[in-house]
Amino acid sequence: MELSVELKKEIQLNSTEIGERIYNLAEILFPICRSITGNGVRETLDTVSYIIPLTIHEIPTGTQVFDWEVPKEWNIRDAYIKDENGNKIIDFNVNNLHVVSYSKPVHKKLNLKELKSHLHTLPDKPDWIPYRTSYYEETWGFCLTHNQLLSLHDGVYEVFIDSSLSDGSLTYGEYKINGKTKKEVLISTHVCHPSLANDNLSGIGLSTYLANALSKKQPYYTYRFLFIPGTIGSISWLATNEAKIKNIAHGLVLSCVGDAGGPTYKKSRRGNAAIDYAMQHILTHSEYHEAIEDFSPYGYDERQFCSPGFNLPMGLFERSKYGQYPEYHTSADNLSLISPKSLSESYEMVMSCIEILENNRTYVNKKNKCEPQLGKRGLYKAIGGDNEAARKQLAMLWVLNQSDGHQSLLDISLKSEMPFALINEVALILTEFDLIAETREPEKV
Ligand code: ZN
Repeated sequence: MELSVELKKEIQLNSTEIGERIYNLAEILFPICRSITGNGVRETLDTVSYIIPLTIHEIPTGTQVFDWEVPKEWNIRDAYIKDENGNKIIDFNVNNLHVVSYSKPVHKKLNLKELKSHLHTLPDKPDWIPYRTSYYEETWGFCLTHNQLLSLHDGVYEVFIDSSLSDGSLTYGEYKINGKTKKEVLISTHVCHPSLANDNLSGIGLSTYLANALSKKQPYYTYRFLFIPGTIGSISWLATNEAKIKNIAHGLVLSCVGDAGGPTYKKSRRGNAAIDYAMQHILTHSEYHEAIEDFSPYGYDERQFCSPGFNLPMGLFERSKYGQYPEYHTSADNLSLISPKSLSESYEMVMSCIEILENNRTYVNKKNKCEPQLGKRGLYKAIGGDNEAARKQLAMLWVLNQSDGHQSLLDISLKSEMPFALINEVALILTEFDLIAETREPEKV
């Protein structure tokens, strides 16, 4: 119970400042050119390691991971397109989105028609640069604004991409906080996007500071944070850590958590996991226009964690839904799209969900033949005479009636449509008065 109070204090005391801290980390990481492998990911994880002590793992190129193979490592130093006069008209150093991620090295001259077959723009958003990747096909390309494209004249252009695609490794970061039980909460976020803020520096920042806060507590659950490249990262982790899977009791994928939209929660494939109910409870009791969605096999790494062979109880938490906000995968997903305020709200929502998981217990009513007499035990006094007293009394009746050793506090909270915090509070009072007793592990897993 001490933990719950501490977590609450943490949320209240730092609710304005925590968003600033997450935003600051996003600002620091923004210029780095990340991809699914390479030095950009290493630099990012090294930066995060200043805040939480990450273990950095390297999985060699060519490693078989289920039906996939760890790809060659990609690194890039420079890239540009020059016009006939030698002017750099597209420069990787101005914006790293200008180069298609995983472009193979190239240095040659070509005419405008040939060049255009390697250019990507967004005609509907003529001032934005698109974000494009070519992980599994060896090609090269540039991304630019549509207005830049329209300004190109016939002529000869010099293209230069100083990149390397070679045997190396896939890098990911992991941080484990030991709890009182071996059962784990897995929190995963992707680290493979270059200069894009909401997708997913917001997720990296939120995960980092959640881990930082939990490392100062003595949580009930063991928490494992993964900072992995999208898709191939989660596949690689699952393939090389199958023995750990059985301990995962709850999980969340965090992505796009820094804009002002949503919040959005996509349920696990199971659809009835405790994490699904806990997130649903937090969001429906929030002041936002939340959206709760059923699982679908498209999105982020929940696709792998929830593949039928694992079927982990993991959902996806976002603010605006990926792919559905206009700035998604464009240069407009920059630091002005995310804010300390939204990051702080997201932190609070996820921390509140964690608090539910931490405090969710199952009780058995020790006086279960008819209702126990509350008055003679001084329970009415214990709940006070304020306006809340009637609600607390009702909450007590719910806890007493439903505590049969099977219904958890979260189940009771959902059934009664009363806040989890209230149900938890009266359960503690009833325990003190010896009317209910905790039966076993916090919940069915
Ligand atoms: Zn993305």
